[in-house]
Amino acid sequence: MRVSLQRFQRFLACFLLAGVFLGVGACGARTADVSPDRASSPVGEPGRSGACAGNTHFQVGSGIHDITGPAAELGMMGYARLDQKTAGIHLRLWARAFVIATPCNDKRVVFVSADLGQVFQVIKQQVMSRLQATYGSVYTDANVILSATHTHSGPGGISHYALYNLTILGFDQQNLDAVVHGIYQAIVRAHNNLGAGTITVASGELTDASINRSPQAYLRNPAAERAQYASDTNALMTLLRLQKSTGLEVGTINWFAVHGTSMGNDNHLISGDNKGYASYLFEKAKGANYLVPETFVAAFAQSDEGDSTPNIYGGTNGGGANDFDSTALSAQKQFTKALALYNSTTESLVGGVDYRHAYVQMDAVQVAPAWTDGVARTTCPAAIGISMLAGAEDGPGFGREGLSCEQVSTLWTAFICAGARTDCQAEKPIVMETGRQTPYPWTPEVLPLQLVTIGNLALVATPFEVTTMAGRRLRHTVMAQLGPSGITRVIIVGLANAYAGYMVTREEYARQDYEGASTHFGPWQLAAVQQEIDRLAVALRHDLPVAAGPTPRDLSCCQTTLQTGVVFDDKPLGQHFGSVMTDANASYNRGETVTVVFWGGHPKNDLRLQDGFLQVQKQHSDGTWSVVAYDWDWETIYTWTRDFCPPTFACSRHTVQWTIPSTAAPGLYRIRHDGTWKSGWDGSLHPYFGLSREFTVN
Ligand SMILES: [Zn+2]
Repeated sequence: MRVSLQRFQRFLACFLLAGVFLGVGACGARTADVSPDRASSPVGEPGRSGACAGNTHFQVGSGIHDITGPAAELGMMGYARLDQKTAGIHLRLWARAFVIATPCNDKRVVFVSADLGQVFQVIKQQVMSRLQATYGSVYTDANVILSATHTHSGPGGISHYALYNLTILGFDQQNLDAVVHGIYQAIVRAHNNLGAGTITVASGELTDASINRSPQAYLRNPAAERAQYASDTNALMTLLRLQKSTGLEVGTINWFAVHGTSMGNDNHLISGDNKGYASYLFEKAKGANYLVPETFVAAFAQSDEGDSTPNIYGGTNGGGANDFDSTALSAQKQFTKALALYNSTTESLVGGVDYRHAYVQMDAVQVAPAWTDGVARTTCPAAIGISMLAGAEDGPGFGREGLSCEQVSTLWTAFICAGARTDCQAEKPIVMETGRQTPYPWTPEVLPLQLVTIGNLALVATPFEVTTMAGRRLRHTVMAQLGPSGITRVIIVGLANAYAGYMVTREEYARQDYEGASTHFGPWQLAAVQQEIDRLAVALRHDLPVAAGPTPRDLSCCQTTLQTGVVFDDKPLGQHFGSVMTDANASYNRGETVTVVFWGGHPKNDLRLQDGFLQVQKQHSDGTWSVVAYDWDWETIYTWTRDFCPPTFACSRHTVQWTIPSTAAPGLYRIRHDGTWKSGWDGSLHPYFGLSREFTVN
């Protein structure tokens, strides 16, 4: 079996792997029965009894920092297309951090939502080592949650595992450094801004912002189970409002399950997608200033979005005339709902902060019969199924979803399933056993599971994209254990602390849609995670420690890359870096778009974090200029193009577009472009800037 499988995989990999992977999948068990007596043993509830009984006194702090990687010529992470590389910025990517502490038990937790496709394991590893260098043991793996919004429009190359760098053409140190630095800085800011305050909570349904993209897989779940729910997606948005005792509004976090796939796979502009824009809208409404260390921060965090898409008209159709419109439609819905919840919160979180965390050898979990179909089961070495190459509906790839070995009804499936199956992976026709690649596996096998309580709210953080029904079963597991000790809400925190594909229910797995094919550890993965999360919940409930578990690999030694650095920059004869190629008109009306093109250097020379490649400036009556828009504003688009300037292709064109808002004040404006060029003589770097003509806005 082993030999034939490997030969078959090699064949398939050669044949197919130029294709696509994008989505998620999950597989899981039937809801395990947590017997009442298991849930009623003597309880300590350290977070909700004792000194923290009835506690509503929190300390809260927030911070935000830029994490935008190379805006040119780096493969984008999400749709797995070789030809989708960055070529500019629409919205910058941000890390949004919150520190929440309870003096009653002297515990604290960090929650970060980052505008990333995934928070790969190396990101958590490196952020933690920087935090520990600064703060000692205040922050550990156990009390820090790093979660990704799952935008598909950020630069990639930031995993240490080969599968996720494949279509990026390898690892990219510059991008990883930007991400780690930015997340760390956001946490430092939140830490420094910590002060006494309160946390209120509200939740409500947002029913027109997502649909299930694998409804046939969802329908595999038992009818009696489906009958308990009105929808085949998780439509509940839950929101926290953090406010200091001084009245200062610190920020807000909400969780809503929907993919970051409003921008499509032909987009080349960096964007936080629908959640990034929703955050921006909320922060703008609160007058946030990204350039100061303390400001209002609004995180639109990811939840159990495995099978949930914003493209509510099917396929890649989000309802807008283009990607920007679709992103705006989804963002507006999420923003409007969040603002309504924010303005109506009255219920305080009650209790203390607590947490448990364990690393689990996910490819070797012995799953007890209580969590499966009544038989002892195991998880499997990580493998991806053929349907992963088909991509999900948001970004179709090679072939069709749903190739399953459940029923071998055609010659093609007979051929595939004869060669590409293992008993452990059951219905999955395997395109690659990523966990068995040498010298290092292509996907991680030691993975973090984490349970955090903030008062009566529980957060379940897993490194997977959890489908709707899988999320429900997991929440049920936690509720069964912690409900008796006062937990009233359980939230799945998606794509947290590492990344290892999807997690579907056992029944969804059999169908082998994109999400099932991307559930690495086999049909009983969800059952295994339920069992391990239950273990954490028991420990938290009884105030017992949990073993740290095995240590994840450190693969920083062993990265390969085909990334190209900047050799040197050039400009056409008679031009200088920053000179204008196409200038603005003399005047514009509001609603029109100003376009200015500059000659300049390559954006990789300096990422211009917290600063940007462009400014729209307005003149004051005293003749001085101030900035009214940056490259992170929705109304601006910054585009980079490589250009031929004889005899080289080393020239960079920087196009700045500013669509003048209807609220813009009439007056005199100009566009500024900032960049850095690299010398061909000695590799030295030189900052420059250019200015457009001054123009009137009427
Ligand atoms: Zn996904």
